[in-house]
Amino acid sequence: MSSSPPKLAPKEIWQNAKAELELQLPRATYDTWLREAHFIAYEDGEFVIGVVNSFAVDWLNSNNLRPLVKRTLARLQGQAVEVRFVVRPQRVRDEAARPAPLLETFSDTDASAETVPGSGHQPLNPRYTFATFVVGSSNRLACVAAQTVAERPGQTYNPFFIYGGVGLGKTHLLHSIGHVTQQRGYQTLYTPAEGFTNDFVESLRRGDPEAFREKYRTVDVLLLDDVQFIAGKEGTQEELFHTFNALYLAGKQIVLTADSMPNHIAALEKRLRARFQSGLCVDLKPPNLETRLAILQAKVREGGWPAVPHEVLLMIARRVPGNVRHLEGALNRVMAQVEVLDLPLTVEMAEAALQDWIPSQPSASPATILDLVAAHFGVTVEELQGEGRSRRISLPRKVAALLLSEESALNLSQVGQHLGGRDHATVRYSLSEIHKALEADAELRRQVEALREELRLPVEIRR
Ligand code: ADP
Ligand code: MG
Repeated sequence: MSSSPPKLAPKEIWQNAKAELELQLPRATYDTWLREAHFIAYEDGEFVIGVVNSFAVDWLNSNNLRPLVKRTLARLQGQAVEVRFVVRPQRVRDEAARPAPLLETFSDTDASAETVPGSGHQPLNPRYTFATFVVGSSNRLACVAAQTVAERPGQTYNPFFIYGGVGLGKTHLLHSIGHVTQQRGYQTLYTPAEGFTNDFVESLRRGDPEAFREKYRTVDVLLLDDVQFIAGKEGTQEELFHTFNALYLAGKQIVLTADSMPNHIAALEKRLRARFQSGLCVDLKPPNLETRLAILQAKVREGGWPAVPHEVLLMIARRVPGNVRHLEGALNRVMAQVEVLDLPLTVEMAEAALQDWIPSQPSASPATILDLVAAHFGVTVEELQGEGRSRRISLPRKVAALLLSEESALNLSQVGQHLGGRDHATVRYSLSEIHKALEADAELRRQVEALREELRLPVEIRR
């Protein structure tokens, strides 16, 4: 053993731990939860750490960050430690120089951000952060760009325009940007476009356009949600055009969301369209199966619920294809049912809970699955059902076993029957093999998922 270095003071240990955590964690996670966290005391083996608000306390406690923080501290301290997070915002030295925040943070985490306000001034939903945003191929670009914008508002993509269908995370990303810029002291204003319209109309009624301009043209970051709502409203569009120019020329950041790209928003003035397109436009696509599953897993963790069996989450992810809000709704519904009935959570039970909520999908026929798998891998159905053991055939056969067991209503023995009379133990073994292969091989995952999606298409548009 080498001689141990001189012991650091607890406060320094915390600083070092933070430096390590900053390297280990995704940038957004660190920024949102730990950057402002500061040392308060060390008592009886317990680090007391101050964080910005009670939401951060809850989040740090309920999430997997806590063990990581503890482990990191313990290693630096050379002994097991406890850590306790308490609400104690840090006094920022230049606080006095900063303008008062325009945004409060929700105290009630259940309060919905969807309510349309009377005026354009809305708090940020503390649940909507980069740390809680699950990234997959459908939203990676938008999320990375949003993080870039949040880190250097006004300096990279300006304006930044996010578009996509309902429930795909536009508002979530917009709030995530707001949390970061606000925390860094940028005057940040979030409003649905309707709030902007209402404010404008109200300012006309009161004959006080100055107050309106003061409010919208003096911010560092303007987050305007669902901008399609101002289409067709001429006066508001005119005002938005001037607001946009004033902010843009002053180097202030503008972030907009809409349900479609600027070009496709009907009744949007040409010059606004051109402005919106002049920065970066990115879209959010519906999440694929893998991302839906990851989102459900994250929601279970965040909800503080007991563990949910993988098959149950898979069933929900498969049943609810596009909209993330529906995905959350389905999970909430299942969890509510579990609580009410106090029954063990099984796939059957979860299916029953969702029965009249989402249309049940007719399961694919075994013949369809075999045809599809055979065609995809360039083998014949007879080969899938035969004795051949080469990888060329055995891999497709395992994929077929997987899809037969998950996409049709067969039990394992029946799956075996369709695969040339194999017994259920053999099928079970194939399934465990294919699960391992899927974990290791992203390309295979993508292929299997594409096959699943294809099985779910109506017959007439299947290729
Ligand atoms: P939109 O504004 O596009 O209609 P929202 O941002 O309101 O959609 O998202 C709907 C719900 O889905 C919100 O509760 C949001 O937190 C959640 N959500 C959407 N995308 C994700 C994601 N990638 N990870 C985690 N939650 C998400
Ligand atoms: Mg929205």
